[in-house]
Amino acid sequence: MFILSEDSQRTQGRDAQSSNIMAGKAVAEAVRTTLGPRGMDKMLVDSTGTVVITNDGATILNEMDIEHPAAQMIVEVAESQEQEVGDGTTTAAVIAGNLLGEAEDLIEQDVHATTIVEGYHEAARIALEAIDEQVGEADVDDEILKQVGESSMTGKGTGGLTAESLAETVVEAVRHVETDDGVARENISVHTQIGASSNATELISGIVIDEEPAHDAMPTSVEDASIAVLDVELGVRTGDIDAEYAIDSIDQLNTAIDAEEQEVRGYAEQVVESGVDVVFTTDSVDDRVSTILANEGILLFDNVSSSDARDVVSATGARRVGALEDLEASEFGAADRIRTATYGDDDLAFIEGGAAAETVTLFVRGGTEHVVDELERAIIDALDVVSTALASGEVVPGAGATEIAIADKIRSEAAGIEGRKQLAVTAFADAIDIIPRTLATNTGKDPIDSLVDLRAAHESEGRAGLITDGENVTIADPFEHGVIDPADVKREAIESAAEAATMIARIDDVIAAEE
Ligand code: ADP
Ligand code: MG
Repeated sequence: MFILSEDSQRTQGRDAQSSNIMAGKAVAEAVRTTLGPRGMDKMLVDSTGTVVITNDGATILNEMDIEHPAAQMIVEVAESQEQEVGDGTTTAAVIAGNLLGEAEDLIEQDVHATTIVEGYHEAARIALEAIDEQVGEADVDDEILKQVGESSMTGKGTGGLTAESLAETVVEAVRHVETDDGVARENISVHTQIGASSNATELISGIVIDEEPAHDAMPTSVEDASIAVLDVELGVRTGDIDAEYAIDSIDQLNTAIDAEEQEVRGYAEQVVESGVDVVFTTDSVDDRVSTILANEGILLFDNVSSSDARDVVSATGARRVGALEDLEASEFGAADRIRTATYGDDDLAFIEGGAAAETVTLFVRGGTEHVVDELERAIIDALDVVSTALASGEVVPGAGATEIAIADKIRSEAAGIEGRKQLAVTAFADAIDIIPRTLATNTGKDPIDSLVDLRAAHESEGRAGLITDGENVTIADPFEHGVIDPADVKREAIESAAEAATMIARIDDVIAAEE
């Protein structure tokens, strides 16, 4: 009996399992070489020829046109890692791929998928305990936060800037939006602008928007500004004149023009009389209105995008005004300073010291689009990890040290686990080894020798990572070398990798409808 359409494709049993596992492994393999401070970059070219150069796992997987459904699940691991904690995407994808590789071996040894799933869950639980044990005792202060930010950026193209000075700016930004309830990460934005070296990257205490003044003669900087945000057109509504005047003499034409002039002047006067210093309107403004306002020293932005208008509102506390009659001081927002600047073809407005929100903007500069884009990704990762570390106050050693500790704890607890499940638990530890192994491979070290040395150092010292410091690669305590990751990044990586791998391993039937 056929219950499926003839066109649908079906793969069952081992075939389904191994095809899914292979696809998942292949995806993880694709990002492996980018891991760590000596990770290489990938250049991705899409069908329209757009080029992205990046070292960021989530970006690579996103840009790759991945169709296989199981492979897609690994991409989702990286995506959820990015969303939840903002870093560790390569780590999570690589672990997930290796868990699948180990699962494949277990299946070949006739370990049932449900046993693998149970074993992996057990091992993931032990791994989380191991992470708790690795959490550093010291308070997460600015110095540690800086190191966390720096660790997340090493290996990323940070242009001419050292990761250290960038990390300092990142910590400053995060500290700025820290409140009693945690870190208001949403109050930090990143604005990229090409045309200068990345050394010009700076922290603006406020927002930056792509808007230009309506008139060249308007002030380029206004201090202690009162600000209005309008959804009002400041001009003669098209059609008004034709409807009201049937023009058949010069006199009548002049009267019409006078009436129009008067109407326009009326709008400008209403704005001037309100006492406002800076106006943003989402609608258009007649040139004559702009000229009058420019003469009065008022800074006006017209045709402002609605998202920029929203940002101005939330930064300055202005209330949106829908009709000119309602333009009053009670609706105004305020800011310490509003200034405009031109960068090449781009006009920007900087709104600093807004009265309503403690927003800050990292104004990222770089010579080319590719440089600023990769710099932006690195900075966003750093902002996320520093926020995560500050919010939870928990950091763990990086450079593979936490993974060495996890694998060690899993192996020692595996001895007490009965039956074939023990094999699956041990396999999980083997999969975790991929992180220190890959860090070794990517720095040109032998992965087996490094693993042996790291385990020995972990045994005697308790903390041992493969530290890359300039040209040198040494085994040492990552805390002493400032290679520090947020505990939540490691937790999330283990959890999401284990979840995806077990989900994929459990599938033994793939039914695909015809496209
Ligand atoms: P992910 O996408 O997983 O964050 P990365 O390429 O950012 O991948 O690499 C992160 C790994 O690199 C972490 O394990 C981190 O501890 C490690 N790492 C960062 N800086 C160093 C360093 N100086 N030496 C050794 N390992 C480092
Ligand atoms: Mg990273």
